[in-house]
Order: sequence, then structure tokens, then C-alpha cells
Amino acid sequence: MTKLLGLPGIVVEDSQEIDNTIILKVKRIEKKAVCPRCGQRSHRLHQNKYHLVKDLPWSGQQVILKVNRRQFKCENCQKPFSEKLDFVG
Ligand SMILES: [Zn+2]
Repeated sequence: MTKLLGLPGIVVEDSQEIDNTIILKVKRIEKKAVCPRCGQRSHRLHQNKYHLVKDLPWSGQQVILKVNRRQFKCENCQKPFSEKLDFVG
């Protein structure tokens, strides 16, 4: 399933099928993110936040990506920030 998506650095954690829709739970493999304020890499996970993204239909079925856009807390700024997800959009 992960290879099927063709998104580098992204893994499929879980998949389920409801009616004619496939829901894929995905996240970035990378456990760190770069703070947009100071540029420091942070690995302190603040919280998980899920976003639903409609993907292209595949084999006649609607595909929805349930993306875990994690929030990290920068140790330098002491402020939470959301990781950047290049593949969304
Ligand atoms: Zn920072």
C-alpha cells in the first residue's frame, strides 16, 4: 500500500474501506521537523492532528488520505508548530 501511493517519505499506517471509499492513514517517516521560526530541528512531539485529504480515484474507488500532520514543540522557541507536508495540495 505504501508503494502504491508513490510518495517518498510517506508510510501508510492503516487502511480501511467504507462503502466505495478507501481511507488510508498516512504519516511522514521522518520523526523530526524543522521549526519555521528559528530553523531548529525538533523531535518533541506536541500532538497528532489528522487532516482528511481527497486523493484521486483509484480503480473506480474514491481514495481519502487521513494525514497525520503532527505538531512539534520547538525547544528553542518553546512554541508548537505544525510540520510541513509537501505532498498535500
Ligand atoms: Zn524554533
